Amino acid sequence: MINWIFDLDDTLYSGPFESYEKLRPNMEAAFILQKLPGKIHIFSNALLIHCHNVLLRLGLYTLFHPRIYSRDIFKSIKPNLKSYLEVRKYLNSNQKDINIFFDDRLENLEMAKKIGWKTVHIHKIEVKPKPKFVDSWFPDINTALHSFSQRKIEVFNPTYNRRYI
Ligand SMILES: [Mg+2]
Repeated sequence: MINWIFDLDDTLYSGPFESYEKLRPNMEAAFILQKLPGKIHIFSNALLIHCHNVLLRLGLYTLFHPRIYSRDIFKSIKPNLKSYLEVRKYLNSNQKDINIFFDDRLENLEMAKKIGWKTVHIHKIEVKPKPKFVDSWFPDINTALHSFSQRKIEVFNPTYNRRYI
Protein backbone atom coordinates (compact mmCIF):
# COMPACT_ATOMS: atom_id res chain seq x y z
CA MET A 1 0.00 0.00 0.00
CA ILE A 2 1.21 3.49 -0.80
CA ASN A 3 0.40 6.58 1.25
CA TRP A 4 0.80 9.83 -0.65
CA ILE A 5 1.16 12.58 1.96
CA PHE A 6 0.99 16.20 0.86
CA ASP A 7 1.80 19.42 2.59
CA LEU A 8 -0.74 22.05 1.56
CA ASP A 9 0.55 25.64 1.35
CA ASP A 10 3.23 26.24 -1.31
CA THR A 11 3.13 22.54 -2.18
CA LEU A 12 -0.34 21.73 -3.58
CA TYR A 13 -0.39 25.18 -5.15
CA SER A 14 2.43 27.60 -5.97
CA GLY A 15 2.46 30.27 -3.30
CA PRO A 16 2.68 32.61 -1.67
CA PHE A 17 -0.91 32.48 -0.45
CA GLU A 18 -2.71 35.76 -1.09
CA SER A 19 -6.41 35.03 -0.79
CA TYR A 20 -8.81 32.13 -1.29
CA GLU A 21 -10.36 33.97 -4.24
CA LYS A 22 -7.07 33.89 -6.13
CA LEU A 23 -6.79 30.10 -5.95
CA ARG A 24 -8.07 28.29 -9.04
CA PRO A 25 -9.24 24.70 -9.48
CA ASN A 26 -6.42 22.37 -10.48
CA MET A 27 -8.27 19.75 -12.50
CA GLU A 28 -5.06 18.29 -13.86
CA ALA A 29 -3.93 17.48 -10.32
CA ALA A 30 -7.39 16.16 -9.41
CA PHE A 31 -7.34 13.84 -12.42
CA ILE A 32 -4.00 12.31 -11.48
CA LEU A 33 -4.61 12.24 -7.71
CA GLN A 34 -7.73 10.13 -8.08
CA LYS A 35 -5.84 7.59 -10.18
CA LEU A 36 -2.86 7.14 -7.88
CA PRO A 37 -2.76 3.70 -6.28
CA GLY A 38 -3.10 3.83 -2.49
CA LYS A 39 -4.39 6.67 -0.34
CA ILE A 40 -3.80 10.41 -0.46
CA HIS A 41 -3.49 12.57 2.67
CA ILE A 42 -2.88 16.18 3.72
CA PHE A 43 -0.34 16.90 6.48
CA SER A 44 -0.39 20.65 7.13
CA ASN A 45 0.74 23.07 9.80
CA ALA A 46 -2.28 25.23 9.00
CA LEU A 47 -5.65 25.14 10.74
CA LEU A 48 -8.26 22.70 9.48
CA ILE A 49 -10.54 25.49 8.30
CA HIS A 50 -7.74 26.85 6.09
CA CYS A 51 -7.09 23.37 4.67
CA HIS A 52 -10.78 23.00 3.87
CA ASN A 53 -10.99 26.41 2.19
CA VAL A 54 -7.87 25.91 0.09
CA LEU A 55 -8.81 22.38 -0.98
CA LEU A 56 -12.31 23.53 -1.91
CA ARG A 57 -10.86 26.31 -4.08
CA LEU A 58 -8.42 23.88 -5.73
CA GLY A 59 -11.24 21.43 -6.44
CA LEU A 60 -9.49 18.74 -4.39
CA TYR A 61 -11.52 18.66 -1.18
CA THR A 62 -13.57 15.54 -1.82
CA LEU A 63 -10.44 13.62 -2.85
CA PHE A 64 -8.71 14.24 0.48
CA HIS A 65 -11.56 14.42 2.97
CA PRO A 66 -11.43 13.06 5.70
CA ARG A 67 -7.68 12.34 5.56
CA ILE A 68 -6.66 15.91 6.40
CA TYR A 69 -4.25 16.20 9.33
CA SER A 70 -3.89 19.80 10.49
CA ARG A 71 -2.40 21.64 13.42
CA ASP A 72 -5.72 21.50 15.33
CA ILE A 73 -5.47 17.73 15.58
CA PHE A 74 -1.96 17.50 17.04
CA LYS A 75 -0.21 19.36 19.80
CA SER A 76 2.88 19.78 17.65
CA ILE A 77 3.65 20.85 14.10
CA LYS A 78 6.21 19.99 11.43
CA PRO A 79 9.14 19.57 11.69
CA ASN A 80 8.57 18.28 15.24
CA LEU A 81 8.91 14.48 15.22
CA LYS A 82 5.78 14.11 17.36
CA SER A 83 3.53 15.41 14.59
CA TYR A 84 4.92 12.85 12.12
CA LEU A 85 4.35 10.04 14.58
CA GLU A 86 0.78 11.21 15.07
CA VAL A 87 0.22 11.21 11.32
CA ARG A 88 1.74 7.77 11.08
CA LYS A 89 -0.91 6.49 13.49
CA TYR A 90 -3.62 7.80 11.18
CA LEU A 91 -1.98 6.19 8.18
CA ASN A 92 -2.33 2.82 9.86
CA SER A 93 0.68 1.78 7.89
CA ASN A 94 2.73 -1.34 8.31
CA GLN A 95 6.37 -1.87 7.44
CA LYS A 96 5.65 -2.89 3.88
CA ASP A 97 3.83 0.35 3.13
CA ILE A 98 5.51 3.09 1.19
CA ASN A 99 4.95 6.60 2.51
CA ILE A 100 5.72 9.37 0.04
CA PHE A 101 5.80 12.89 1.42
CA PHE A 102 5.64 16.13 -0.58
CA ASP A 103 6.65 19.43 1.00
CA ASP A 104 8.18 22.75 -0.04
CA ARG A 105 10.29 23.05 3.13
CA LEU A 106 13.55 21.15 3.51
CA GLU A 107 13.37 20.89 7.31
CA ASN A 108 10.03 19.10 6.99
CA LEU A 109 11.47 16.64 4.49
CA GLU A 110 14.51 16.02 6.66
CA MET A 111 12.37 14.85 9.56
CA ALA A 112 10.19 12.75 7.24
CA LYS A 113 13.28 10.95 6.00
CA LYS A 114 14.27 10.16 9.59
CA ILE A 115 11.13 8.06 9.98
CA GLY A 116 11.67 6.33 6.67
CA TRP A 117 9.39 8.23 4.33
CA LYS A 118 10.25 8.90 0.70
CA THR A 119 10.68 12.63 0.28
CA VAL A 120 9.73 14.88 -2.60
CA HIS A 121 10.78 18.52 -2.59
CA ILE A 122 8.32 20.82 -4.35
CA HIS A 123 9.96 24.18 -5.01
CA LYS A 124 10.56 26.47 -7.96
CA ILE A 125 14.28 26.31 -7.29
CA GLU A 126 16.17 23.05 -7.12
CA VAL A 127 18.61 22.86 -4.21
CA LYS A 128 22.08 21.85 -5.37
CA PRO A 129 23.80 19.76 -4.36
CA LYS A 130 20.69 17.74 -3.51
CA PRO A 131 20.46 17.12 0.26
CA LYS A 132 20.76 13.45 1.22
CA PHE A 133 17.27 13.44 2.73
CA VAL A 134 15.62 14.56 -0.52
CA ASP A 135 14.73 11.71 -2.88
CA SER A 136 13.44 13.85 -5.70
CA TRP A 137 12.65 17.42 -6.63
CA PHE A 138 9.99 18.96 -8.86
CA PRO A 139 9.29 22.63 -9.58
CA ASP A 140 5.55 22.27 -8.97
CA ILE A 141 2.93 19.74 -7.97
CA ASN A 142 1.59 19.00 -11.44
CA THR A 143 5.02 18.14 -12.80
CA ALA A 144 5.55 15.85 -9.82
CA LEU A 145 2.19 14.12 -10.20
CA HIS A 146 2.73 13.55 -13.91
CA SER A 147 6.05 11.93 -13.20
CA PHE A 148 4.65 9.62 -10.52
CA SER A 149 1.60 8.64 -12.54
CA GLN A 150 3.91 7.39 -15.28
CA ARG A 151 5.74 5.13 -12.86
CA LYS A 152 2.63 3.12 -12.15
CA ILE A 153 4.09 -0.27 -13.05
CA GLU A 154 6.94 0.11 -10.59
CA VAL A 155 4.51 1.19 -7.89
CA PHE A 156 2.47 -1.96 -8.21
CA ASN A 157 5.45 -4.27 -8.14
CA PRO A 158 6.99 -4.37 -4.63
CA THR A 159 10.29 -5.71 -5.93
CA TYR A 160 10.80 -2.36 -7.59
CA ASN A 161 10.28 -0.39 -4.39
CA ARG A 162 13.93 0.40 -3.94
CA ARG A 163 14.24 2.12 -7.24
CA TYR A 164 10.82 3.67 -7.05
CA ILE A 165 12.10 7.19 -6.51
MG1 LIG B 1 4.28 24.36 2.83
